[in-house]
Amino acid sequence: MHHRPTLAKINLSAILSNYQQACKLAPKARQVAVIKADAYGHGAIEVATYLEPHVPAFAVAFLDEALALRAAGIGKPILILEGLTGEEELRLAEQFNFWPMLHSNEQLLALMSLTPTPELQCWLKVDTGMHRLGLTPVDAQSWADKLCREMKQRPVLASHFSCAEVLDSPISKHQMQQLFALAAHMECEVSLANSAALIRLPQSAVGWNRPGIMLYGCPPIADKTVAELNLQVAMTVTSQIIAIREVMPGEAVGYNCRWQAEQKSRIATLAIGYADGYPRLTNSASEVFLHGQRARVVGTVSMDMLTIDISHIPEAKVGDEVELWGGNIPVNEVAAHANTIGYELLTRVTQRMHRAYLRD
Ligand SMILES: *Cc1c(COP(=O)(O)O)cnc(C)c1O
Repeated sequence: MHHRPTLAKINLSAILSNYQQACKLAPKARQVAVIKADAYGHGAIEVATYLEPHVPAFAVAFLDEALALRAAGIGKPILILEGLTGEEELRLAEQFNFWPMLHSNEQLLALMSLTPTPELQCWLKVDTGMHRLGLTPVDAQSWADKLCREMKQRPVLASHFSCAEVLDSPISKHQMQQLFALAAHMECEVSLANSAALIRLPQSAVGWNRPGIMLYGCPPIADKTVAELNLQVAMTVTSQIIAIREVMPGEAVGYNCRWQAEQKSRIATLAIGYADGYPRLTNSASEVFLHGQRARVVGTVSMDMLTIDISHIPEAKVGDEVELWGGNIPVNEVAAHANTIGYELLTRVTQRMHRAYLRD
């Protein structure tokens, strides 16, 4: 039971539609639905349960995320993007049909020391330029050889773009060429594209793709809107007006008097704050949506509340619903005002925010 009028409304059929849109961009490839970080804040179990009949596999960052999905009854293979280390983790992967994306010599040595069964489908992460995780192409080739010989399997060769959202990036092309050359030589399948690459670099979207952010209707590319990408916004954050007051010129609102009225203003207080995931460090241009109009966030965002200027919306009253981000206020816009990206705001919606699911 929850009473607070502050919600993240999650539209599960929008997520499915976005997944299908990702598939349309690469009809010959297969797409792993990336649901790490609690499905980017949308609830991994709910999202996985809804998508499961439609996807070949899921991806998460680490083992505990995958185990939680199995405990909730999700049966499809789960790719573990940060790989697995040590015997216990690898045995769990065998037992639960997880696909480790092995990225280091240490992880591969651990794997080979326990004579794994061929059913343990391995992916090898190759560092083609991101320089964060991954084997060198030379090491990847020798490990792929070894897996072919000793496990009778061809690993999927994977890499991750560092600049996928940049149009015509020579870095992306170089990364792609390196991985394709290695995969052709080894006769292995490849996995390269995240959401931005599916859109920007369709040549890379072969084999297995790994769309994440686009599934949630958040454009991975700054110059494209949700509609232009044929996506649907999956999360709408709303709250209510819980108080309204008038302030006189020169009077300040909120902590540290960061905002001062220049003229007589009508200020509404909303039941949402930074402890819900609304960014505290937002600049003074951040806006919300009510009564078909936009209104400015004014003053410092508090833990449980924030204040907006509704001087131009005389019909607004206590109890009215206000959208913080969603179909009218893109999450990327709120993020830009807080000097961050939509990914961060979505994944930082906190546990106390009630999530209400819409299913078709
Ligand atoms: C998070 C992640 C993805 C998904 O990226 P999006 O930009 O959200 O589409 C794909 N691959 C790897 C390795 C990741 O870590």
